[in-house]
Amino acid sequence: MERPLTANIRPDREPLDIDGYERAGGYRAVREALQRMTPEDVLAAVTESGLRGRGGAGFPTGQKWSFMPRGEGAPTPRYLIANADEMEPGTFKDRLLLEGDPHLLIEGMIVSAYAIGATTGYIFLRDEYRLAAERLRRALAEAAGRGWLGEHILGTGFSLDIHLHTSAGRYICGEETALINALEGRRAIPRTKPPFPQAVGLWGKPTVVNNVETLCNVPHIVNNGAEWFKGLSRTDNAGTKIYGVSGKVKRPGAWELPMGTTIRELLEEHAGGMRGGYRFRGVLPGGASTDFLVEEHLDAPMDFDAIQKLGSRLGTGTMIVLDDRTCPVAMVHNLEHFFAQESCGWCTPCRDGLPYVEQLLAAIDDGDGRFEDLDLLEMHTRHLGPGRTFCAHAPGAMEPLQSALRWFRDDFERHIAERRCPYR
Ligand code: SF4
Repeated sequence: MERPLTANIRPDREPLDIDGYERAGGYRAVREALQRMTPEDVLAAVTESGLRGRGGAGFPTGQKWSFMPRGEGAPTPRYLIANADEMEPGTFKDRLLLEGDPHLLIEGMIVSAYAIGATTGYIFLRDEYRLAAERLRRALAEAAGRGWLGEHILGTGFSLDIHLHTSAGRYICGEETALINALEGRRAIPRTKPPFPQAVGLWGKPTVVNNVETLCNVPHIVNNGAEWFKGLSRTDNAGTKIYGVSGKVKRPGAWELPMGTTIRELLEEHAGGMRGGYRFRGVLPGGASTDFLVEEHLDAPMDFDAIQKLGSRLGTGTMIVLDDRTCPVAMVHNLEHFFAQESCGWCTPCRDGLPYVEQLLAAIDDGDGRFEDLDLLEMHTRHLGPGRTFCAHAPGAMEPLQSALRWFRDDFERHIAERRCPYR
């Protein structure tokens, strides 16, 4: 099984230095792209490969890049931003790449910047990722020292600088326009779209924001071609995926596997099954802002389309497992506490609705809930759902709640009827 994204990640997680990275074939894609391909060729290869954004939304990467204005008279400068603000509860996949193979991200950014005509790149990193910051700084200095960054890379007309920005940290910075505002030193709130960042982005200039895992795929696509990339997957959603599992499993962790690996294989083979004494009840397949799936969904392939058909989302591909001894009400309460705290406050339904949802859940969790509260919660899942708020934060926050009300309704009702948490 090929694992291109994590091939250089060693068991001790010490990243390769530039010599080691180059010996392992690193920066070959930069040479290939800059010396033998036009930016349009790189764009075509990425489009053809079917690479979809690994940050959660799953938008086709080539299509995203194609929205950059091209040709004579297109505005400059242009920017490429690596979104490394990984803050979703339960999600730790980009951290593996950032800490384990920082040169791969840098190489991915060079090739991607070449394709979109960007001359400056930013890595927007959450401040808590201190080890990643240290390793990225070292790798950026090494790459600049070898001439992979800077003026006239490989003697071509292409120049690129990459800056590391460690953010003050806010969940909403994972949203690309809020991230751009934050990078400009403004309040981190989303911007109205359109205009999309590809047209009017950082400092009003064309900008592409891509997730770390997405960018790390690009050198491999350039080196091996679109067909190879498609062939890595078990389904028609191309490539491999870094999946993660957390919860009461024997071996929580993250693994690179073919896209379309089933939930059951992830849980049983890679995470080692449930820990002794615990039974599986459900799973948030793609991080905290996705809908619960349950036992009947265990054989579903984890790809964008299959998980969507089941009413949830692949999201970041990092699953959080709910076991039979953990209270689903408390779990959802905990998540909604996070989402309420992380609302940027820009629009009323989210700013006021999420704390109210959290308050209702707190009451139920504490044994002070009323049956009418369940109707109120249901109503909020609709009122904070898609299309009702400025960005996807509130709708995302409603996903675990609406699915918990569906799959674990008995638990909510028992809390109210017995006026206590049956799990404590
Ligand atoms: S939905 Fe929430 S996070 Fe998004 S803009 Fe509105 S207040 Fe901000």
